[in-house]
Amino acid sequence: MKLKEIGEFGFISDLEKKYKPDTSEVLKGIGDDAAAFLNEDNYAVLLTTDMLIENIHFRISDISAKELGFKSLAVNLSDIAAMGGKPQNVFLSLGIPDKISYEYLTDLYTGMEDLKKQYDLNIIGGDTSSSGNDLFINIVITGTIKEEEIIYRNGAKINDKIFVTGYLGDSACGLDVLLGKLELDENHNNYFRDAHIKPKPQINEGRTIAQLKLANSMIDISDGLASDLKHICQQSSAGAVIYEDKIPYSKYMNEISSLENVEPLDYALYGGEDYSLLFTAAQDNKDKLYDIFNSKLKTSLFEIGEIVQGNDIEIVLKSDEKKKIVKTGFHHF
Ligand code: ADP
Ligand code: MG
Repeated sequence: MKLKEIGEFGFISDLEKKYKPDTSEVLKGIGDDAAAFLNEDNYAVLLTTDMLIENIHFRISDISAKELGFKSLAVNLSDIAAMGGKPQNVFLSLGIPDKISYEYLTDLYTGMEDLKKQYDLNIIGGDTSSSGNDLFINIVITGTIKEEEIIYRNGAKINDKIFVTGYLGDSACGLDVLLGKLELDENHNNYFRDAHIKPKPQINEGRTIAQLKLANSMIDISDGLASDLKHICQQSSAGAVIYEDKIPYSKYMNEISSLENVEPLDYALYGGEDYSLLFTAAQDNKDKLYDIFNSKLKTSLFEIGEIVQGNDIEIVLKSDEKKKIVKTGFHHF
């Protein structure tokens, strides 16, 4: 059978059923942004891995070695953020084709320095191999969190409000710019390219939400709002309604929204790689959340809908028409 027939998420869901952890020390196995297992004194270790493969996740001609180092680490950190954790240690493995020089690899590591310093990370291991034609980068990150603070995908409750912590669609638009599908002025090109190449892992946002126990479920938006909201809904046995007029777009996205080839809603729903956090929280926590995002975190927070009974994900369009979202985001197979 081809993987296409079962799909990436079908395959993972099979694995999740097959490999249920048989010890209570494993708090979460397959199926969330990171695995979690108990350490001493009710602290949990978080462990997550993400792979970046040349010509699947990036093209060498589109991104510098430093930028690639930054992005590889950032997307991994994002999964620790999505559990509410504090990132700690990094393993970095490389499959290196002949065309990649020593200097390129040095730059790749240099590109990680800012994030390493910002979050006090240590690179503590990895693996190095040659590779056929393409560069492979695999990162494993560990994190830590108190057991009771972990925010899983499966905790959404009926009537929870749905929030995102940043503009949606910019990264997908940046990918179209890189692929030459969209030609904009230099200013806009640079903004969208940066959104795609330099995602900001929302560690402080995730940790604050977790420490203050303000959310019931959380995920990072790696595959697009449609796909990632579906993960929360499926795992929480709930449905969702979101509102087109509440989806947050950057000023730059609004400026190009009337251009042919630009459909902001499609970018937001199906584009992916925004790496904002998507979380659900009780209505009672709303004021506190806005207060903390405004005064302490000084970053944006947007309410986009609510969790409802059932298993459909629906969007209320600006025309007031309600539509079921059936398509999801990027699929590898
Ligand atoms: P994310 O987009 O947050 O990185 P993924 O969709 O990659 O999440 O993974 C979802 C879950 O499936 C995670 O728990 C991950 O560890 C697990 N997973 C993905 N691929 C495999 C695999 N080949 N074997 C075992 N578990 C996997
Ligand atoms: Mg994730």
